[in-house]
Amino acid sequence: ASTALSRIGLAGLAVMGQNLALNIAEKGFPISVYNRSTSKVDETIERAKQEGNLPLTGQYSPREFVLSLQRPRSVIILVKAGSPVDQTISALSQFMDSGDCIIDGGNEWYENTERRMREVTDRGILYLGMGVSGGEEGARNGPSLMPGGNYQAYLNIKDIVEKVAAQVEDGPCVTYIGEGGSGNFVKMVHNGIEYGDMQLISEAYDVLKVAGGLSNSELADIFAEWNRGELESFLIEITADIFRVKDEHGEGELVDKILDKTGMKGTGKWTVQQAAELSVAAPTIAASLDCRYLSGLKEEREAAAQVLENAGMIDDVGKVRSGIDKKRLIDDVRQALYASKICSYAQGMNLLRAKSVEKGWNLNFGELARIWKGGCIIRAVFLDRIKKAYQRNPDLASLVVDPEFAKEMVQRQEAWRRVVGLAIQAGISTPGMCASLAYFDTYRRARLPANLVQAQRDLFGAHTYERIDRPGAFHTEWTKLA
Ligand code: NAP
Repeated sequence: ASTALSRIGLAGLAVMGQNLALNIAEKGFPISVYNRSTSKVDETIERAKQEGNLPLTGQYSPREFVLSLQRPRSVIILVKAGSPVDQTISALSQFMDSGDCIIDGGNEWYENTERRMREVTDRGILYLGMGVSGGEEGARNGPSLMPGGNYQAYLNIKDIVEKVAAQVEDGPCVTYIGEGGSGNFVKMVHNGIEYGDMQLISEAYDVLKVAGGLSNSELADIFAEWNRGELESFLIEITADIFRVKDEHGEGELVDKILDKTGMKGTGKWTVQQAAELSVAAPTIAASLDCRYLSGLKEEREAAAQVLENAGMIDDVGKVRSGIDKKRLIDDVRQALYASKICSYAQGMNLLRAKSVEKGWNLNFGELARIWKGGCIIRAVFLDRIKKAYQRNPDLASLVVDPEFAKEMVQRQEAWRRVVGLAIQAGISTPGMCASLAYFDTYRRARLPANLVQAQRDLFGAHTYERIDRPGAFHTEWTKLA
């Protein structure tokens, strides 16, 4: 082994860490790696050998690991979020010096990052919370990276992350996000948007399958076709592929044999909690989270299907189906999916803006859309258009009122309403599409029935109301007048 110092270190060699370390080494940056259990260090060394004698050195103790790095040292940590990160920091930081930097690449709660920043700052250690998206494949071949925190720490690794990130035509999928825990927060909202996208795609599938009677092979063709148009994205592409995979244990396709219970790890829930905390409406993302919860109640749903006569409903679907023009349905669903998706992104972006104002992060939404164009799970062609919308107007109140998106929303609303109407009539739940449509219809109404809610609040709680025709706060003795 060479005694030359490594340019950077990475601790935590599970799926993400191992692949990111190999990616960094492959880009020509000598790297030291460390993991609590040593078998993963050996595994990573072996892979580095096999994948082309990459410049990677394994270390078996925190001390040797830290001392094997060039100063100022940069150490990426990729362990389970929460207390494992604290434990790893305390194991490593005792050997680190002022000016060295810790970069947590996990899906960490942003406030944990801000606490750790404060904890290491009196020793002069710099800190970044860096969202990493793209799963195993992204980590190995080019993820989308969302580093936030100390700017000097970012400058120390800028050359590395710019080479390691996914590359798109307008640059590497990485940018300095902002101060504090902004990198983790942006990654969290990215995941919330991802929940929304996946829910909307599953609803499109459900409507086409149940109301349209489409087979898996037809669905595969349709999603592949959609992936050549405005919906082109990683999630649409993999969905097309999924429909073609045969079940190796029996007849038909694997997708039909998968239990309809969705797992989750918490970032979607945090997104919805933050939306509520900041008084930002995020109904599409909330609906996708609720759907994951309801999906978990498999036994209850099976019982409810009996009690609530779901079977009769499905017979009616047969009737609905006989009157359906398949070609038109497919085109309508494509438009409904697209319009619903724009509303979901508008919610995510507005949540980011509210947080940016609260924390003074000064987030650049055009840049966020740009670094999501490659590497990450929500990567999509239409993110380029979101980027341009925010470049045209950085203070855009909502994506849906950007002139280009507004035009598209208006054009698509008839198809969108047909799909949601059909689904409601047939008892096929489309909570994401419905939430997006209700969001759209509520947002674009100059006058809502909120006047009545205000009247009620004033009647029972003397909360006062404002008038449309004169300034001031008013209270009425409603029951005396009625
Ligand atoms: P993981 O399963 O979340 O964590 C396993 C790693 O954490 C192992 O290296 C393990 O070390 C280490 N670890 C656990 N407890 C520890 C402790 N108390 N002290 C020291 N090390 C400890 O790994 P992952 O899936 O690669 O994810 C890493 C991070 O990236 C997570 O925050 C995750 O949410 C995020 N992320 C994951 C993905 C993905 O697709 N998997 C995508 C984006 C982001 P041992 O080997 O010693 O047990």
